[in-house]
Amino acid sequence: MHDFKGQTVIVTGGTRGIGKGIAEGFLKAGAKVIVTYTTNEAAAAQFKQDNSQFAENIDIQKLDVTKYEEVEKFFKYTDTKYGSFEVLVNNAGIRKDSVLAMMKESDWHDVMNVNLAGIFYMCKFAVKSLMRKRYGRIINISSVMERYGFEGQANYAASKAGLSALTKSLSKEVATRGITVNCVSPGFIATELIEDLPDKLRESYLARIPLKRFGSTEEVAACVLFLASKEASYVTGSTLEVTGGL
Ligand code: NDP
Repeated sequence: MHDFKGQTVIVTGGTRGIGKGIAEGFLKAGAKVIVTYTTNEAAAAQFKQDNSQFAENIDIQKLDVTKYEEVEKFFKYTDTKYGSFEVLVNNAGIRKDSVLAMMKESDWHDVMNVNLAGIFYMCKFAVKSLMRKRYGRIINISSVMERYGFEGQANYAASKAGLSALTKSLSKEVATRGITVNCVSPGFIATELIEDLPDKLRESYLARIPLKRFGSTEEVAACVLFLASKEASYVTGSTLEVTGGL
């Protein structure tokens, strides 16, 4: 178990799904956690209720990562309220699947905006703050799709492959400032994001996974906490896959 007492952690899209598992992992490890969400008020309220024992360490903020000015304002808020932070987990992500020939232009741009531009905005302002501190951990949640590609997911796979390239480039820019930047790349994790999969597709995915089950949010969180820990000081620009062997 890593110790994050005295550290402030930001988790985007942290009130449900994988982000919730990650945020809860940091809370259990003693961190103060700023969790963001966009529109799902019910999930935000549920997160607060589920984690009432950590109430004094939770700060829930509404933030749309696709809005540059909102992101800038968010980091001004964290700087003013907390002085600084140590860890940023860029978890917020969406998928809007369809075969490329039928894909709506808006579905391409929406996915790119959240999964790639949003992370650029978050990293840009985070790095400015972390460079002053000369310490920081940035973990970007990618997807195994960036490596395989998948029918119906050209936009999603491209956004995640772009994220991997962004991660590698940024890691080189900030290495001498004590900041590491890595990806955690989950396979199929049981969350709402994959809840709508048709049964046949779900079964075919399960058949392909060597461990023969979908992963849990806690299993992703364990990898994120490792990369966010002081002990992971020599790991940067890398991708840690959590895929059940895919
Ligand atoms: P969910 O759909 O369960 O949750 C997505 C989260 O992102 C929500 O908290 C949502 O906020 C937030 N979000 C959506 N749009 C924005 C935005 N514009 N700005 C800020 N936050 C936003 O997804 P998962 O938990 O399943 O996925 C989390 C990450 O893991 C994503 O990056 C996804 O690509 C990746 N991943 C997931 C896999 C899986 O099998 N589930 C596999 C591989 C990767 P709100 O609650 O307000 O809607």
